[in-house]
Amino acid sequence: MEQHADVLIIGGGMVGAALACALGRSGFEVHVVEAQAPEPFAPEQPLDLRVSAVSLASQALLEAVDAWPQVLAMRAVPFRRMRVWDQRSFGETVFDSRDIGEPALGHIVENRILQLALWRAAEGLASVRWHCPARLEALAIEEHGVRARLNNGITVQARLVVGADGAHSRLRELAHIGLTSWDYDVEALVATVRTRAPQQDITWQRFTPSGPQALLPLPGPHASLVWYLPPDEVARLKALDDDTFLEMLRRAFPRELGGVERLLERGSFRLTRRHAQTYCKPRLALAGDAAHTIHPLAGQGVNLGFMDVAALAEVLIKARDANEDIGALHVLQRYERWRRGENLLMQTAMDVFHHAFKPARGPLPWLRGLALHAANDLPPLRRLLTRRATGRAGDLPWPARSGRLP
Ligand SMILES: Cc1cc2nc3c(=O)[nH]c(=O)nc-3n(C[C@H](O)[C@H](O)[C@H](O)COP(=O)(O)OP(=O)(O)OC[C@H]3O[C@@H](n4cnc5c(N)ncnc54)[C@H](O)[C@@H]3O)c2cc1C
Repeated sequence: MEQHADVLIIGGGMVGAALACALGRSGFEVHVVEAQAPEPFAPEQPLDLRVSAVSLASQALLEAVDAWPQVLAMRAVPFRRMRVWDQRSFGETVFDSRDIGEPALGHIVENRILQLALWRAAEGLASVRWHCPARLEALAIEEHGVRARLNNGITVQARLVVGADGAHSRLRELAHIGLTSWDYDVEALVATVRTRAPQQDITWQRFTPSGPQALLPLPGPHASLVWYLPPDEVARLKALDDDTFLEMLRRAFPRELGGVERLLERGSFRLTRRHAQTYCKPRLALAGDAAHTIHPLAGQGVNLGFMDVAALAEVLIKARDANEDIGALHVLQRYERWRRGENLLMQTAMDVFHHAFKPARGPLPWLRGLALHAANDLPPLRRLLTRRATGRAGDLPWPARSGRLP
């Protein structure tokens, strides 16, 4: 059976679903192929281990596609302050949303909730069609379009195919697009806990001699804890039974956590930096983790993916309105030119943080302390960094600036 679309999106995760909503609302016929539907929401459900710090720029995109009210109707926690400190040098910076006249710096949202909200927003669009559960099996790129064979027997013909199928993108592999990548030799140990303190409005990051630790506030008296450690240390801690693990958290994390009452879930993620050698070929583009992955220290991964979506949607809408071919390489290269530099800049900034805040002796801790004090004590610098953290900096696509589609 053969079906036709303007744009075929492989992957209906947060990035693919956001692109489907943006293009579907703009009059494109969109088909999305997704291997696994997210579990429906119920308020009593346990918190998802994977959470994201959604920036104000990403929030604007989610407002533009009408998914943000769905997020708020499920679960999201605003954070107004962000504190960064170095345990050894005592250097400290506090970013506050009041410094830039905003009610919040961003929201912490579970990944599954973001995906569900976008799926709900897309459900109301007759122009978006889902193939789920289904997987991409084979792809033929022809002069005027692509032909994708799915494992459910359906073939979809489209003018453009977009890979939003995550870090191990099958589409990227089928298109023979190479990667520049390296492993950080660090894992993120993640735990969802119930705290004695009520819901917090702060995220914090503490640099310790063993590795950075972070707290992301979750709804009610809950928090997501992250500790970046060498893989053998993560393996050792993961092997502890729940009670010993909880005791270890109580000892290792600072009192700012507000006391840990109960461990709800734990897991770990290996950290790898990846950048696709190109984001596009004739009739094909990559977005989100399929194009780049980043050290999650500053929680920027999905935010970069959402900015890819906003830029790609803007480029495609303008090309269509100018009667251009949306799958032409010169059109897709506008998107790549827009996003590659921004993504590379953020990847590099995270690498600098990763190396600068590695456990070290000598003058490095002292220099770190000085840098954190400078960021805190110079209000113009602090405001500049605060604005960067909200995603409201650089060459922003229209939906991320205005909360509306072009
Ligand atoms: C420890 C850790 C903490 C993080 N914290 C943050 C944070 O605080 N803030 C932040 O912004 N980011 C964070 N990130 C990064 C963030 O999770 C990713 O950037 C984000 O999930 C990427 O979204 P995506 O939609 O591009 O890819 P994915 O979320 O991987 O989605 C890909 C989708 O494609 C589907 N798929 C894959 N292959 C196929 C196929 N062949 N056919 C059909 N469907 C397919 C999958 O089922 C999936 O639904 C963190 C990452 C890690 C590891």
